[in-house]
Amino acid sequence: MDEILSKIDDPKILSQIEKIIPFHGYLSTGAFIGIQMLTIAQRLLDIKEDDKVYVTCETFNCLPDPFQILCGCTVGNKGLKILDYGKMAMTINKAAKPGDKMVQGLRIILDPAKTADYPILHAWYMNERKISHEDAISELIKAGDAVYTWEYVDLPVPVKLKKKVAICRKCGESFVIIDDEDFCRTCF
Ligand SMILES: [Zn+2]
Repeated sequence: MDEILSKIDDPKILSQIEKIIPFHGYLSTGAFIGIQMLTIAQRLLDIKEDDKVYVTCETFNCLPDPFQILCGCTVGNKGLKILDYGKMAMTINKAAKPGDKMVQGLRIILDPAKTADYPILHAWYMNERKISHEDAISELIKAGDAVYTWEYVDLPVPVKLKKKVAICRKCGESFVIIDDEDFCRTCF
């Protein structure tokens, strides 16, 4: 891993890696992809250090962790949503202006048509054979933005509904109701 770090001369990325290692447990390829995606998004959406951002990751694997530790996006504060699609893809947006119904976001993928130019990285991505994180990350450093594809997307701003709580008629526990249902989701 020290060998990889010596290949990186951007102090910002080095400090991001320093935060990710104890949080994620080690620097995985997926976590490093998250750093690169975040760097692209910060540039294109003009995201500043303390801007509140919202992230949707399309995999549970590794990718969500950089956004939790580097952007403060968590499942509990609704800054992070995870879809179990098994895709190296994420969508990010800044907080909408008050009253806006739509907000511009950016969806970024690790593009297999582009990783094909980097055989070791591509073999890791397609899970063709065992590739070490060191080797895969070295390729990602070499490739930089060249293996990603992105598009701007218009995202609806979620409407905040008034919270209503009821007691379930079956189990007697309280729960947040969505419509006017009598039973909690567990009992239903
Ligand atoms: Zn119940």
